Amino acid sequence: MRAAVLIRQGAPLEPRELPDAEPGPGQVALTVRACGVCRTDLHLRDGEIDAPRLPVVLGHQIVGVSDDGRRLGVPWLGWTCGQCRFCRSGRENLCLRARFTGRDIDGGYAERTVADERYCFALPDGLSDAQAAPLLCGGLIGYRALTLAGDAQRLGLYGFGSAAHIICQVAVHQGREVFAFVRPGDERGARFARSLGAVWAGASTDAPPEPLDAAIIFASDGTLVPQALRALDRGGTVVCAGIHMSEITAFSYDDLWQERSIRSVANLTRRDAHEFLALAPRVPVSTTVTTYPLEGAEQALDDLRAGRFEGTAVILP
Ligand SMILES: [Zn+2]
Ligand SMILES: [Zn+2]
Repeated sequence: MRAAVLIRQGAPLEPRELPDAEPGPGQVALTVRACGVCRTDLHLRDGEIDAPRLPVVLGHQIVGVSDDGRRLGVPWLGWTCGQCRFCRSGRENLCLRARFTGRDIDGGYAERTVADERYCFALPDGLSDAQAAPLLCGGLIGYRALTLAGDAQRLGLYGFGSAAHIICQVAVHQGREVFAFVRPGDERGARFARSLGAVWAGASTDAPPEPLDAAIIFASDGTLVPQALRALDRGGTVVCAGIHMSEITAFSYDDLWQERSIRSVANLTRRDAHEFLALAPRVPVSTTVTTYPLEGAEQALDDLRAGRFEGTAVILP
């Protein structure tokens, strides 16, 4: 099979011919139809987060078809131990021995892959392979972040990329008001957010017109944390949804006072996936995708780094 392989962090992905992945016990072999590109893939490629197993095939938003014809989605959570204190308390997203697709397990930047069937999901029928792929991380982890934002009515989204463009639609469907924050000067991003139902879109350095009940930060810029805190109403929460963030700049205790809080979101549980994938067709969530051939995987990562597209990049092997 052909694959785009991360050989060394900080260097471009390389096209390789690999032997077809063979399924072990409990695994299903899949022909990859589409694989979404996530900012985590870019962090792995750029060396901003650790890649413990090299070489590795990136990609954890996989839409594949099994040899018996079932369309399945494969997310970031690839395997959990089922034994540790987190697995035993409904928090498999925090499993001490968790293995992640496209990091510890070869992922979907390839023509074929294998996955533990217990962590694969049926996908909504209404979406094409390319359109369904972004649901598998942007959607699932975005949904977990939205859940941890509680019942916030006025919701801020910082960084309007793959996850935010999905979660904006879900939040509007739930009757919330969405305030979208984009890079200063990014008029195209602001228009995109308004087109998906945001009641306000402006620069991340701007104050929203009303204080927010919660803000989710999808961008990896740590200076956004104090900015988001200052946009919150009393009792509000800042949810940091990315796997990596640059250093958080110092802020005054006054910004946190009045029961404001900051928390992170890590990974997903299978329960998050079942809930979100049932909800998505009821919204209904649509996704904006830019597609690349497998040979274009490095270009897709470069375009993501530079912010050259709206929505999600998707590789079609
Ligand atoms: Zn991801
Ligand atoms: Zn565990």
